[in-house]
Amino acid sequence: MNKQLIFSLIISFLITSCGNKKTDSSNKSERNEKEICKLPRVVEGPIALGFPKIEGLAPSVGKLNVTVLFVDFEDVPATESTDSIFSIINPIVPNFYKEISYERLEYNLNPHFEWLRLSKPSAHYGATIREFEPHRNFLQEAIDLADQNVDFSHTDVVLVMSNPKAESIPFGPVFKSLDSEYQLKTAEKSISVGITSGYDLNYWGGLWLAHETGHTFGLPDLYDFEGENQLKSVGTFGIMGTQAGNAPGYFAFERWVLGWIDDNQVICHKSGVTTSELSAIEKIGGIKAIITSIDSVNLQHNVYQLR
Ligand SMILES: [Zn+2]
Repeated sequence: MNKQLIFSLIISFLITSCGNKKTDSSNKSERNEKEICKLPRVVEGPIALGFPKIEGLAPSVGKLNVTVLFVDFEDVPATESTDSIFSIINPIVPNFYKEISYERLEYNLNPHFEWLRLSKPSAHYGATIREFEPHRNFLQEAIDLADQNVDFSHTDVVLVMSNPKAESIPFGPVFKSLDSEYQLKTAEKSISVGITSGYDLNYWGGLWLAHETGHTFGLPDLYDFEGENQLKSVGTFGIMGTQAGNAPGYFAFERWVLGWIDDNQVICHKSGVTTSELSAIEKIGGIKAIITSIDSVNLQHNVYQLR
């Protein structure tokens, strides 16, 4: 990261209001300035950008405990040690979150160093785990194999690392369920979030997990799924856009949602000319964002940050 590089980054959240626009408008006069800039989530389900952060998923402040399991397959047996695979994500991911959260998040990776042999060929899982139920079954099978020897009582997220030599599992999605009936079951508790690694771990390296962890907080992808320039929205400066940029991190608005920036570190500017000093986003303390409204009806804002 070139820390000498200083420029102002503008993010435009083009969020189309839905459903409760009228209620929102009528309450607007009662809101204080900060609340107007706290753009609400307008998408149903456990993944959306906006306030308040989705409850019941992974915590973004305090301790985040991730239990790490390792699985291989009869057709692709492990040839490396679990320690070796674990070193791809550790310590890079805990260090990433310590810095990016201004030390507000303690990211604990708790590995169970044993290759767990799943019952079906790797291609079976690779073909199905992009769907909710098969992915849940995949994670649950790994948990069941480990449950006797692993204490999940403090686990927030279960990370299942598949043998990275298994090409037929190209990438692993994130599992989320706010309904206890469908959550992952362990001897100690139900767990709402799980992550699977796939063959693309070889390409992305440890920051792959930094990106997927964003989904466990409820954050969406910030890249375009089609078109020639999939990074035209956020460039290479957002970990939810790409983990391959020169300075992958979280934007000020995401940090605010996640509880790493306080309300008094955000200036919500309504009108007229103002002068404020922004503190670089990567440093602890100071004003981290100035937010201006473009369109208060359709909830479009610009967020300025300095890096
Ligand atoms: Zn993603």
